[in-house]
Amino acid sequence: MTTPRSASKDFIREIIDEDLNSAKHDGTVTRFPPEPNGYLHIGHAKSICLNFGIAQEYDGRCHLRFDDTNPAKEDTEYVDSIKEDIHWLGFDWGDHLYFASDYFEKLFEWAVHLIENGKAYVDDQSSDEMRSGRGDLQNPGTDSPFRNRPLKENLDLFDRMRAGEFKDGEKVLRAKIDMAHPNLNMRDPVIYRIVHTEHHRTGDTWCIYPMYDFTHGQSDALEYVTHSLCTLEFENHRPLYEWFLENLPVPSRPRQIEFSRLSLNYTVMSKRKLLQLVEENYVSGWNDPRMPTISGIRRRGYPAEAIRNFCKTIGITKFKSTNDISLLESSVREVLNADASRFMAVLKPLKVVITNYPEDQVEQFDAVINPEKPELGTRKVPFSRELFIEQDDFMEDAPKKFFRLTVGKEVRFRCAYWIRCNEVIKDDDGNVTELRCTYDPETRGGENPPDGRKVKATIHWVSADHALDAEVRLYDRLFNTESPDSGDSNFLEHLNSDSLEILPAAKLEPNLADVAVGETVQFERLGYFCVDIESSDESPVFNRTVGLRDSWAKAKPKS
Ligand code: ATP
Ligand code: MG
Repeated sequence: MTTPRSASKDFIREIIDEDLNSAKHDGTVTRFPPEPNGYLHIGHAKSICLNFGIAQEYDGRCHLRFDDTNPAKEDTEYVDSIKEDIHWLGFDWGDHLYFASDYFEKLFEWAVHLIENGKAYVDDQSSDEMRSGRGDLQNPGTDSPFRNRPLKENLDLFDRMRAGEFKDGEKVLRAKIDMAHPNLNMRDPVIYRIVHTEHHRTGDTWCIYPMYDFTHGQSDALEYVTHSLCTLEFENHRPLYEWFLENLPVPSRPRQIEFSRLSLNYTVMSKRKLLQLVEENYVSGWNDPRMPTISGIRRRGYPAEAIRNFCKTIGITKFKSTNDISLLESSVREVLNADASRFMAVLKPLKVVITNYPEDQVEQFDAVINPEKPELGTRKVPFSRELFIEQDDFMEDAPKKFFRLTVGKEVRFRCAYWIRCNEVIKDDDGNVTELRCTYDPETRGGENPPDGRKVKATIHWVSADHALDAEVRLYDRLFNTESPDSGDSNFLEHLNSDSLEILPAAKLEPNLADVAVGETVQFERLGYFCVDIESSDESPVFNRTVGLRDSWAKAKPKS
């Protein structure tokens, strides 16, 4: 079967098409290979969407393989979170869950195979000696004094390394390739090192561990991966990847292809830096809603669909570039605008008393659940004599262009009545504490009155007696500069001190009591909000996912 070539395909999919058309492969196998040393971030999402997406499109399969060759930094907590995040993104590895550590025995055997063929040797040099012996781009390296050790001695020493006779760093196993090779990765790279540390899966079975380069391609080959897709920083490692495949009795020949990594402005993406933010308590954890981690953006209320759409929009290339975070945010708005139910919520409440409204009366007004989905119908919203409105929706000395509530003016209270403000009540310090208003019974449901009067604004409100008290957390960008980790400064200097504002006394439409943890809704006129994992029936907590519009675009000076 030939696969039709489409003009909109990225270069990787074009290569796959060619390989299928030329019958080089009869199926497509990819893999996503995280190291379990941190939580996944939005950059990983790009790789996940690519690898699992290709498997779906080509009716192939994508393996999840944990690249767990570095016991000191890895943990099962990370393994579990990574699985959860991939599932949440909408992908599944089926039966194909693998761990590089499952191949340790095979890799050891293959290291012995290299020694037996005169292609690896045990080196006693310190890491400093090896570094200076490697040379640089201008100068060839110099051979290690141990490079020509007899084969038998190498085999014996490597066995004793495995048996635990030596301390960390005392010996390494190196591939014997070419100390003058123009690619520094080919100058006798280390392939095994001694690490006396328990591994989260193999326990204390091993005290020698294979290096990433000696593990990755062989694992791909053992799993019959056809296309091994990785980010550009591995381009220089490709000759080594190929060298191992050529020099070992591997069962298949995968091909490594590199693409440019995702980078976003106003954030950092390196796991080391994210770990530092967590460990030094700059954020509340890996899943803090300001973090660019998958678990953070999930908690923030970003839908998985929006992440997948975003990855599709930015595409796959070989060019390094930084994407604007507002592009991600607009993907989020697009999905939520279509899907999120609407509710009214007052974040900074100001009390309103409707003096001509009967004291004990309550009316239930119909409000549309989602104008994008009329089939969902309406919800009931209670209205009574005492209400809350947003402090920002009232101004005492209002300029001409202020169309919301002010003394002597009338506005529409959404789906309820037209309300006129008559009097302002203040405390001893002169702060406005309450508004005395009247309503026009002829505007029931928010309809225009028969006399043809006009209002210029509609505002939202919540009935005081019925309101649900809640805490609302407003998030902003974690960093206040576009590229916090570029240049000489420490990225921590660019943390945005206003990235979290907590509003402890929000008043919500009572229907919001039924919204489940993790669900994202629209607070009308304010933005999208999601029920936080710390929320409970007694004390609800909502996170602001994203505002209705891009407020940063407006705030930025025009260039
Ligand atoms: P970091 O450099 O932040 O420590 P990493 O690249 O070492 O991350 P891994 O767990 O090794 O993290 O990554 C797993 C896979 O995800 C790799 O194939 C890697 O190329 C890919 N990946 C990591 N970061 C990005 C990114 N920003 N964009 C696209 N793919 C990425
Ligand atoms: Mg890595």
